[in-house]
Order: sequence, then structure tokens, then C-alpha cells
Amino acid sequence: MTKVHFVGAGPGDKELITLKGYQLLQQAGVVIYAGSLINLELLAYCQPTCEFYNSATMTLSEIVDAMEQGVLAGKEVVRLQTGDFSIYGSIREQIEEMKKRQLEFTCTPGVSSFLGAAASLGVEYTVPEVSQSVIITRMAGRTPVPARESIRSYAQHQTSMVIFLSVQSVKEVVRELIAGGYKPTTPVAVVYKATWQDEKKVVATLATIAEKVLEAGIRKTALIMVGDFLGEEFYYSKLYHENFSHEYR
Ligand code: SAH
Repeated sequence: MTKVHFVGAGPGDKELITLKGYQLLQQAGVVIYAGSLINLELLAYCQPTCEFYNSATMTLSEIVDAMEQGVLAGKEVVRLQTGDFSIYGSIREQIEEMKKRQLEFTCTPGVSSFLGAAASLGVEYTVPEVSQSVIITRMAGRTPVPARESIRSYAQHQTSMVIFLSVQSVKEVVRELIAGGYKPTTPVAVVYKATWQDEKKVVATLATIAEKVLEAGIRKTALIMVGDFLGEEFYYSKLYHENFSHEYR
């Protein structure tokens, strides 16, 4: 039997899909892609006979029906999702449907946008002695966020934070971060369409970021990155220190 393949498309640049994801696109008979976020140039990797569905205009049951029909017709089906599907990918409900309908599936990870954005800035989230943890979160939108996960409460940790799906509320994000204990001088970066041709990067402090983001006209498809990992202070890692053993290098 053919299968449904969930594939992370990467953050934008069409070369940032994995080799495995690329090969699955080449073999696909049906591709269901997240049209509002993925780079459509990726679809050029498919055969001319491949059928395409844009999931932006489909409901969950329409998506799953299209997958099932593809498999019943003996075609390999690719479900192409932006970045990596384990981060705000709505993959859980799709996987449950695969199990209910006894469709076999595989999952191939992708480069999440938070990694693409760090690469564009040339930064490390885990700078030694500055922060060793990364919090990935979002503001509540149509999907609520549990109250114990408020941005204000996470701000208390003063560690590296990446905030998805929230740039439209950048002022509120800033207010919550400051209310939670971040100094207004804390560095912040907003990266719009990381790794795409029309990528934009805005680097500022909590005090000035909201205005700069509005000025740059950024309202969606952006990440807010905050924390001292973006600052000037850093310490050399012990990893490459001459007295350190080599087993992790
Ligand atoms: N699964 C995706 C995230 C999907 S949620 C991933 O791993 O990246 C959609 C949100 O992701 C957008 O609102 C935006 O906050 C962020 N996003 C997706 N692609 C992006 C990109 N290239 N640059 C910046 N942010 C991006």
C-alpha cells in the first residue's frame, strides 16, 4: 500500500527542505500543501503528473479525504507543511485521522522557522552563561494558550524566547514581557519570512521594537526573538577549551 508522508518544508528557501523530503516530493502522486506559508517553488520538485491541493481553503475532513483518495488510487501522498510540523503544525489531529482510517504514514522533519531565523541573524540561542534554554511560545489567538503558560510568567526566566504567531500584537507582547521582568533595554529581533528572498530583519530593544516593526510594515509571518542571547555579552563555551575532553565535539 502507498502511504501518506508528512513532510516539513523548511522555513522558506527551497533548498532548506531535507533530502528525504525532496525525494518524497519527486515520488509524490498527490501533494497537499499549506499554501499560505510554504514556498511554491518547492512544488517544482514534483512530477508534471502530480495533483496538487492547497490546504489553505480546505477543512480537516477535506484534507483527510484527499489523502485517503490518493492512497486508494495507489499514489504516494505528501502533506507538505511549513517549517517543521511539530511546532504549531496541527499534525496531531491529522495523525489521529490516519489511525482511524487505517492509513499508513511516515513523518519527515523540516527546519523550523525559529532555526531559519537564528541562522539569518547568525546567532545561538544557548550562549554559555547567558542562557541555556529556549522557550517557544505564542500569544493566544483563535487557539487559546493555557493560563499557566502566559508570556508574562515565562519572562521571569529571562532565558531565550521565540514567540510565534504574535507579531500582529507586538505591543501587547512587549507589555507582557516587561510586566514579567524583562528590562526595556533587553535586545529583541523580529524576523519576517526568514530565509525567503523578501526576508526582513528588525533588531531593537523592548523599548523600541514595536514602533520599528510597524514602520517596517511587518504584520504576519514573523517571529519575535527576545533575550540577552542577542546582546553583546558572551562567554566562550568550554566545548572547545583545550582542557576539555573531545567526546561531544
Ligand atoms: N511549523 C512552522 C510554524 C507554523 S505556525 C515552523 O516550524 O516554523 C506559523 C507561524 O510561524 C507564523 O505566524 C510565523 O510566526 C512563523 N513562521 C513561519 N515561517 C516563518 C518564516 N519563514 N519566518 C518567520 N516566521 C515564520
